[in-house]
Amino acid sequence: MIQESHPNLPKRIAGLREIAYNLWWSWHPEARSLFKLVDRTLWRETNHNPVRLLKSCNPERLNALSKDPAFLQAYDAVLRDLSNYMKADGTWYKGLGAGDTRPIAYFSAEFGVHNSLPIYSGGLGVLAGDHCKTASDLGLPFTGVGFMYPQGYVHQQVGVDGWQQNIYDYIDWDAAPVQPALTPEGQRYVLKVSLGGWPLNIAVFRVVVGRVCLYLMDTNVEGNTPGDREVSGRLYGGDITMRLRQEIVLGIGGVRVLRALKIPAEVFHANEGHSAFMFLERVRELVADGKSFEAAVSAVRETTVFTTHTPVGAGHDVFPEHLIEEYFKNYWPSLGLDRERFLELGRVPGVPGWNMTALALKLAGRSNGVSRRHGEVSRQMWKSLWPRESVEKVPIRSITNGVHLATWVNQDLASIFKKYLGPDWKVRQDDPALWSKVDDIPDEEFWRTHLQHKQDLLNMVRDRVRARWMRDRMDPSQVLAGGSLLDANALTIGFARRFAGYKRATMILSDPERLKRILLDPWRPVQLVFAGKAHPADDGGKMLIQHIYHLARDPAFGGRIAFVEDYDMHIARYFVQGSDVWLNNPMPPLEACGTSGEKAAVNGVLNLSVLDGWWEEGYTPENGWAISEGQTQSDDRDRLDAESLYTLLEEKVVPLYYDRGSNDIPLGWVRMMKESIRSIAPQFSAARMVKEYTKNMYLAQDPVTAGSK
Ligand SMILES: *Cc1c(COP(=O)(O)O)cnc(C)c1O
Repeated sequence: MIQESHPNLPKRIAGLREIAYNLWWSWHPEARSLFKLVDRTLWRETNHNPVRLLKSCNPERLNALSKDPAFLQAYDAVLRDLSNYMKADGTWYKGLGAGDTRPIAYFSAEFGVHNSLPIYSGGLGVLAGDHCKTASDLGLPFTGVGFMYPQGYVHQQVGVDGWQQNIYDYIDWDAAPVQPALTPEGQRYVLKVSLGGWPLNIAVFRVVVGRVCLYLMDTNVEGNTPGDREVSGRLYGGDITMRLRQEIVLGIGGVRVLRALKIPAEVFHANEGHSAFMFLERVRELVADGKSFEAAVSAVRETTVFTTHTPVGAGHDVFPEHLIEEYFKNYWPSLGLDRERFLELGRVPGVPGWNMTALALKLAGRSNGVSRRHGEVSRQMWKSLWPRESVEKVPIRSITNGVHLATWVNQDLASIFKKYLGPDWKVRQDDPALWSKVDDIPDEEFWRTHLQHKQDLLNMVRDRVRARWMRDRMDPSQVLAGGSLLDANALTIGFARRFAGYKRATMILSDPERLKRILLDPWRPVQLVFAGKAHPADDGGKMLIQHIYHLARDPAFGGRIAFVEDYDMHIARYFVQGSDVWLNNPMPPLEACGTSGEKAAVNGVLNLSVLDGWWEEGYTPENGWAISEGQTQSDDRDRLDAESLYTLLEEKVVPLYYDRGSNDIPLGWVRMMKESIRSIAPQFSAARMVKEYTKNMYLAQDPVTAGSK
């Protein structure tokens, strides 16, 4: 199934294989340029996938490259950079002098590292990917554990009626940057676990992300029943039983994989509740070693970190107790528990069912939400687990999410940072003093670079709709809805994220006549570019897309509304780098953090957002706009927020954008762009985030104690 090497690679450039299989290349521009040099057209056709590129490249071309001095010079330099990086000299983590290094195992149901590894669905996965890359950069002893979903991806197409069609695509193993995981003896490893009494085989794959390895499990293995082969089929697919089976594999299987492969792990971090069964498995190990249940729980709590990611109730898995009983009745005796004491572990007082977040909060010594606001909301939300404590004492802290700058900052802008902030800007990225030098960047150079990114976004949109038009012969109105009339001179508002109801994607469409006046102003035109998928089972989300699509096709809006199909990390980069304004209007307080706005802000794209999640910490009147500032909760929130949004656009955003100085540069706008980068980049970089996790969660010795548990 998996080809182990590239037999057609000439010896002199055989190291290309190592570079291709280490996703380090994805955040190092010189490595990306190297693959572009191999074959520019193929690089594009493979959607920037070096594994596929090397497999499809013809041997004569590779031979010629192995004798091309210019190519060899670039190749040698990249290979040298990679091997220096892997040596991990002088990393931040080493500099801590934390005598006892504590290797960390990070469990997540999804990882968004790069498009060529389609095992993520949205913000949670992309955050996990950014966390791994940053852990690698900072030199943390860090391992990821997750799933390889063979039917990984749902692609999105929108029909002429505006309805989302879900197209499932199987992962092409030969073209994914994965390799089989090997035991210390060099054998391919297959784990056997029991799932509700039935044996199950799990294959394990390894993905290299800089200095960090991810171990991904797959149940599509010979010997498993057809039903079991489907367990790892799709991310968030299937019914509640399938979901439970997945989570057993992730949590319990994940711990056993680490043990069998002898991967050191002392601190265990559950990124969201999906993997919380791993806490039980570690209790079981200790009980098997002779500890009492209570002593085992206390040892597990000391070494366990849990991050909760959403205040939306449906975002927390709850399983019926009979299902838990069916799958765990042979397991709880190994913890030294009876039925009642076991089921109690997953209970929220007064609520039926087994709640994965409740389990995680009880067994993790250190828990956190993902923004200051989300910390408060979570303490409120889970207070009933600590009935004797006041809300402030509920032991859930907060660490605000950040973004991996080397992944999300545009390459040209990164060169500008290098020039004006200094060559060490990436190492010092969470130091506010460094970013004050953004003021030194000449306005003209800065603005021209932004205009180029905007052009890149519009070109990407047009190329995609052109390809679809040629391939599928769709209705011409769909070519317009896909963005072919977008205008590089118009103020461009980006909105791209999952289509979950609370994100209120259609709020800006709520007064079509007022919107029309804003978009169609002949001297100061504005355009809206949307993208995002609805969950395949979410008809409500699909109806929101349909609403947008109708207006996008409507000649009355003049092609100034576009919907770009099949949102993913590749498209996200163009959006957060090339829009002028980033619109975000979820219903507070339901956006736990939101990271797309952080990605936009560090590229100088100005946030126009309600005060929720990270924006409540990041916003100042100089770096963006706050919808409904000063307003408290109200039943009429949708209408009031829309009113505030329109007024801000009419009175602040559009006038500032079109207020041009010499050389047609909007000086006030540019000042805000720079202030956005200066004030937001250090505070919302993933480096700041992972350092906080390290100091307050991974290396902290004291579990937070509070309340009855
Ligand atoms: C960053 C990112 C997200 C998260 O977006 P939010 O606005 O924070 O929900 C989702 N999907 C992709 C592909 C992303 O890159």
